[in-house]
Order: sequence, then C-alpha cells, then structure tokens
Amino acid sequence: MELRELGKTGERIPVVGMGTWAIGNSSGDQRREEVKAIQRGIELGMTFIDTAEIYGHGRSESLVGDAIRDCRDQVFLATKVAPENFAYDDVIRSCDASLQRLGVKFVDLYQLHWPNPRVPIQTTMRAMEELVATGKTRYVGVSNFSVEQTMQAQESLPRSELVSNQVRYSITSRSIEADLLPYCRKERITVIAYSPLDTGNIPISRIPKDMLAKYEMTPAQLMLNWVTFQEPVMTIPKAGRVSHVEENARSIDARISQADYEALAKKFE
Ligand code: NAP
Repeated sequence: MELRELGKTGERIPVVGMGTWAIGNSSGDQRREEVKAIQRGIELGMTFIDTAEIYGHGRSESLVGDAIRDCRDQVFLATKVAPENFAYDDVIRSCDASLQRLGVKFVDLYQLHWPNPRVPIQTTMRAMEELVATGKTRYVGVSNFSVEQTMQAQESLPRSELVSNQVRYSITSRSIEADLLPYCRKERITVIAYSPLDTGNIPISRIPKDMLAKYEMTPAQLMLNWVTFQEPVMTIPKAGRVSHVEENARSIDARISQADYEALAKKFE
C-alpha cells in the first residue's frame, strides 16, 4: 500500500484507508461481515480507519473498536467530534466517550466534523490542544472547512499543527479544486477525500472501457486511483463487504498515467 505524509508530521499513512459511515447499524451476519471487512482491509494495508461519534450514534465507533481489538497498534485511527459538542467541556467529554466506545487509550486523529459558527473556533481548538497535551489524540484535523475556516482553525492552534481537512472529493464532485485543494497543497494540509465512490453511485457508463482494460481495473478502482493521483489527497472509501474491501485495497497497486489522469479529469468536468 502506497503511503503519504500526513500534513507536515513526517508520519506516513496509507493513501487508501477505510470509511465507516453507516457501518455498525446491523446485527448478526451483516455486522460480522462488516467486522471481517475492516479486519481484511487492515491485513491488506488499509490501516487508516475513519469514524465519527455521530455515525449510528456511536455504533460505528463500537464496531471499529471490536474490529481492531487485537491489532490497535497497526491502525491509524481517526474519529470526529460533532458540531453540537464544540464547547470546551463537551469536546473533552465527547473524546472520552469515543475512546470508550473504540476501546482505546488514544486516537491518532481527532477532527471537527463540520464548522459551527455558534462556538468560537478558539474555544474548540483550546480543547483540542488539551486533548493533544493529555495524550488522547496525537493530531488535530477538521472536516468540511472552507479555505477561510481552515485558516482560522490554523490560527487557533498555537501549540499544534492542523494536519488535515476531510472534504467531499471524487471524479464527480470537484468543487474543492477551485481553491481548497490548492490552498491545502500549499500549506501541506492533507486532504482526506470522502465519498470517493460518489456514495456508491459509480458512473460506470461514463468511464472509458479501454482505460479499464488497459489498467485491468474496475470502475471503483479507477475512481480511487484517480482521486489519490495528486498530493496531498488520501481517501477513505466505505465498504461493508469483504469483496469490496479487497477490490479497494488493490486500487493503487499501479498508477494510471498523467495523460489518462488528465483525460479522465476533463471527461468529468
Ligand atoms: P463512498 O465511500 O463513496 O461509497 C460507499 C458505497 O460504495 C457503499 O455503498 C459501498 O458498498 C460501495 N462500494 C465500496 N467499495 C466498492 C467497490 N469496490 N465497488 C462497488 N461499490 C463499492 O461513500 P461514503 O460512505 O459517503 O464515504 C466514505 C467515508 O467518508 C464514509 O464512510 C465516512 O467515513 C466518510 N464521510 C465523511 C463525511 C464528513 O462529513 N466528514 C461525509 C460523508 C462520508 P458496501 O458498503 O456494500 O461495500
């Protein structure tokens, strides 16, 4: 699995990880399959796992906790605090609750899930820095922040670096290319692309068949290869099935050419 530096941390993490929205809501066979899918992904090198306190009201975190119980030290674990919990004490409480559900002593990345203009970012970031100081998270990130909000977040972190911004990005959702992507590239803030498979609506008929044949890739693999072609993008496709996880893990075994990257970009403009 290809690795890329997280922000300016010097730490390299998998370019393709695993998202877990809508995972953990079922019981029985489906839950077992989801646990197996995450464990298989870890075996295949997708050791970057993203979850959030609001996914299934904590059920996603609980499932991730079950899946990583015997391999926590192999995983780069990211979760998120919801905007309604951005007051200082609430951030600390939310993090403690997430750690409990995940069954871990710390997470690797703690992210603000969406901006919340009703709570001063300085207050929220003071709490995030306290979590770094007390060892409950190693790094601080944001999600769904505009360029201006990202700048404010950076300025509100005197003792830490902002390492990432998790935003929607795929071959069919390209709005960040106008300003956020260039800004993050310049600042060396990792862009974590969510919904890289357009939430499962893979535009199969629009993907050139000759390109799939040339690289021996499936449409999903080509989408993941394309979205992570450029620095500083990593991605976290969600897959609740082992077969999808296996497919996604092989998506960047080889890279498409610059010319094909550009041709695809143009086709989906
Ligand atoms: P996604 O990853 O674009 O798509 C997930 C869908 O694609 C699922 O239905 C999955 O099916 C299917 N799939 C996965 N691999 C496939 C493959 N190889 N071939 C065909 N279909 C495949 O959408 P997403 O879940 O919205 O985004 C990914 C992650 O990003 C989320 O899980 C979450 O962690 C994060 N996210 C963050 C935010 C935010 O605000 N920060 C918002 C949305 C998402 P199966 O499940 O059946 O395998």
